[in-house]
Amino acid sequence: MKKFENKIWLSSPTMHGDEIKYVKEAYDTNWMSTVGENINVLEKNICEKVGCKYAVALSCGTSALHLAVKLAGVKMGDTVFCTDMTFDATVNPVIYEKATPVFIDTEYDTWNMDPEALEKAFELYPDTKVIVLANLYGTPAKFDEICAVADKHGAIIIEDAAESLGATYKGRQTGTFGTYNAISFNGNKIITGSSGGMLLTDDLDAANKARKWSTQSRENAPWYQHEEVGYNYRMSNVIAGIVRGQLPYLEEHIAQKKAIYERYKEGFKDLPVTMNPYDKEIMEPNFWLSCMLINEDAMCKQVRSDNEACYISEPGKSCPTEILEVLAKYNAEGRPIWKPMHMQPMYRMNPFVTKDGNGRGRTNAYIAGKGIDVGADIFARGLCLPSDNKMTTEEQDNIIEIIKSCFN
Ligand SMILES: *Cc1c(COP(=O)(O)O)cnc(C)c1O
Repeated sequence: MKKFENKIWLSSPTMHGDEIKYVKEAYDTNWMSTVGENINVLEKNICEKVGCKYAVALSCGTSALHLAVKLAGVKMGDTVFCTDMTFDATVNPVIYEKATPVFIDTEYDTWNMDPEALEKAFELYPDTKVIVLANLYGTPAKFDEICAVADKHGAIIIEDAAESLGATYKGRQTGTFGTYNAISFNGNKIITGSSGGMLLTDDLDAANKARKWSTQSRENAPWYQHEEVGYNYRMSNVIAGIVRGQLPYLEEHIAQKKAIYERYKEGFKDLPVTMNPYDKEIMEPNFWLSCMLINEDAMCKQVRSDNEACYISEPGKSCPTEILEVLAKYNAEGRPIWKPMHMQPMYRMNPFVTKDGNGRGRTNAYIAGKGIDVGADIFARGLCLPSDNKMTTEEQDNIIEIIKSCFN
């Protein structure tokens, strides 16, 4: 085991050279604003790649989700069923529109929204019309089951595919399962524009509305005429140039990320851990982040307050706090699992539904088998591993040795 001279990142941008060509084209032709060839071509290319009819290039994934929430007609006081264990950007737009997120617990098979808990939520909140669902770490959710529950109750799905661009479920790309869908080109995503995002839909009317709203809602008139509120959410033609240059490398990035996942899996086969799971028969993740989950009986004691963690090291056992600490010591970046929304102080009053009904993680301490919900359990026992696609196999083998040492 040796300390890395250059930091091993969780996931950092990987550039190829074409990006700067398109940026320079924008510069040389002076299309430096939110109109231009890069935007047009990128929207077309994404539609072809993902298999949707319309793509609207926006400033980020969060703005795409915000416009999706508006398109879905979410308004003040509505309840919206949301993925619980996710980045908070999934949920923020629901709050922007003054609606109430109801958090749906996670399942162990893909770490996404649990369809049984979703069904339970419709018993408790039958008037709910919108579901915001994320595909965690690039693994598709259980779409057959989720879509069946949504259809049964006449609710529409907003798919947050920010982490899962290029992943497929039964051969179909993520970002097409919702009525409105969001993808992201944020700096650490599978491909990047440094920032940027897109709204994907098959609904022409919705695409046109999103385009109008994203450019300050100008009406068709000789002056600045306004009938509704607007946003400055459109993607810049410079950013679009970067993403345009990245898109041809999406499959290469996925192959690299998959190799990293497989190498961890093999390297950890004698440790009391599992990798973030998926169903090989029906889905192909994009393997954006490799994660591990420590077996219950191999967890040492770990307690987390709102902003600190401590643990007691034990032979043969470890915990995410210890592993992240040791990785950092060797100059490698890991990350805790997204802390579930129902455990966040700002959502302490929001409903949280588990498959057994109404529930709430009551403890931040890890106590094996003490009936904590799935999200709290994965948060307690899981972590994201360094998953940068520029990491060499030697570097990854070093990471594996470092993690093994935590269980000595
Ligand atoms: C990154 C991310 C977003 C937001 O994307 P931005 O482009 O950073 O706004 C939304 N949801 C999830 C799950 C993400 O990981």
